[in-house]
Amino acid sequence: MIELPVNIIAGCIVFAFIIFGLCILFMSNKNKQIAQYEFALAKLKRSFNELDEQAKLIVKTDLELNKAQEISDKRLNGLEALQKISRLISTTLDENEIFHRLDQAFLTDLDFERTLIFEFDNARQLHERISLGFSQEAIKFIMTNLENDFNLMGALREGHTYSSANCPDQRRESIVRIFDTGHFIISPILTQNGIIGIVFVGNLSNVSPVTEGDEELISILASQIGQSLENARLFEEVYRSSQALESKVQERTKQLQEALKEVQEISRTKSDFISAVSHELRTPLTSIKGYAAILMDGKLGEIPEKVRQRLGKINTHSDNLVGLINNLLDISRIESGRVEMNFGKCELLKVVDNVHDLLTPQMRDKSITFKNEVDSKIPTMQLDHSQIERVFINLVGNAIKFTPERGTISVKATMENNLVTCAVTDTGIGIPEEDIKRLFDEFYRVDNEINQNVKGTGLGLPLAKKIVEAHDGRMWVTSIVRQGTTFHFTLPVKTEEQIAQEKESREKGISHD
Ligand code: ADP
Repeated sequence: MIELPVNIIAGCIVFAFIIFGLCILFMSNKNKQIAQYEFALAKLKRSFNELDEQAKLIVKTDLELNKAQEISDKRLNGLEALQKISRLISTTLDENEIFHRLDQAFLTDLDFERTLIFEFDNARQLHERISLGFSQEAIKFIMTNLENDFNLMGALREGHTYSSANCPDQRRESIVRIFDTGHFIISPILTQNGIIGIVFVGNLSNVSPVTEGDEELISILASQIGQSLENARLFEEVYRSSQALESKVQERTKQLQEALKEVQEISRTKSDFISAVSHELRTPLTSIKGYAAILMDGKLGEIPEKVRQRLGKINTHSDNLVGLINNLLDISRIESGRVEMNFGKCELLKVVDNVHDLLTPQMRDKSITFKNEVDSKIPTMQLDHSQIERVFINLVGNAIKFTPERGTISVKATMENNLVTCAVTDTGIGIPEEDIKRLFDEFYRVDNEINQNVKGTGLGLPLAKKIVEAHDGRMWVTSIVRQGTTFHFTLPVKTEEQIAQEKESREKGISHD
């Protein structure tokens, strides 16, 4: 055996230790590196997991966004459809047309597999107006069961809308049982007078369940339908009553025309009668007057004074009678249009002056003051001079008759807008209110002391009124008992051409008749 020197062995051992130390150093470095790598890996893994989570979140959010988009798209479509349908049904006032347009709209604009719209008749019976996706047997079944479900009907009457998206279980069950439709909305059609119908929509498949948005949409649509139907019914009612009114007006007009014809006929007969009787009376009266005059003249021998006096009375009474008959004849002639006014130039101021002159003796007898207050600016008018004079004579004559001594009579005339208004005022006994409305009736005389003592016919005022009306004027009276009376009348200012034109069209009218 070879003996190695100790220093070599020691050297070797030292070397081995060094190698060992180096190895340990190397190993410990490696482990440190591994730990570092492991730490980095764990960090990487954590980051990866976080990224994964985020990716998942993104996908989830995207899905939710899509869903929300889908819902809002659906809602938007629904609102558009609602707006379109509302416009369609609110632009007609015909009930059948409303349902026709709704039928089209449910087919094309609203996306439901099944639709049913019922309407109540006057006897509160349901009637099917629109149906989609239901057989006739199913509709019959629904109607019977719906009418018998008092709970559901009661709730609908109160205005409740139900949908499968939002409905108490029991109610849901009964609706599904009646309509055999899993996804549904049922809403009442209401008006101010209560329920008039029911709208039902639904889907069978789970693919398109109804949402709360759909429920709101159908409920709005149902109230729109209610509004449109109510408008249509109101219109129908108004139309019907206006038709009824029109036919009533036509009927009444016909009755009035017939009554008017009758009155005209009676009036004509009356006028004919008066004029025939007046003529018949006038002839013998003229003879009586003539004979009385012959006797008074003494042509048939001397007559005693007493007989002369009686003959004088016969003469006066005959004159009165002739005056009465003439008045009667004139009234009936003017009334029937047989006497035309003889229009010509006429100055009111002068007419009133003439009347004053004519009646001065009577006024003087009673110390009555007369005032002519005709406005001198009133132009020359187109009037029947003698007839208008007759009116003034009549009115002033009456005023003298019914005014006590020392009274005042005034005649006024003013013009405004081509209309002259005349007023004959006295400070006489006046006329009681109850007599005023009959004052212009023929033969009407107020029962008073003067009338009991003074004779009269009650024809003066009706004649004066007829004459004024024949001039297209109006006559009326105002009076206060014991203070005085005013007779007012109007006369339109017309030109000669106007008068001629009116005459022509009157003649044409008569010939057309
Ligand atoms: P008559 O004078 O012949 O009775 P009228 O037709 O002229 O007929 O008048 C009818 C009635 O109207 C008179 O009887 C009289 O009662 C009443 N009346 C007319 N004018 C006046 C007047 N100015 N004041 C009071 N009463 C009058």
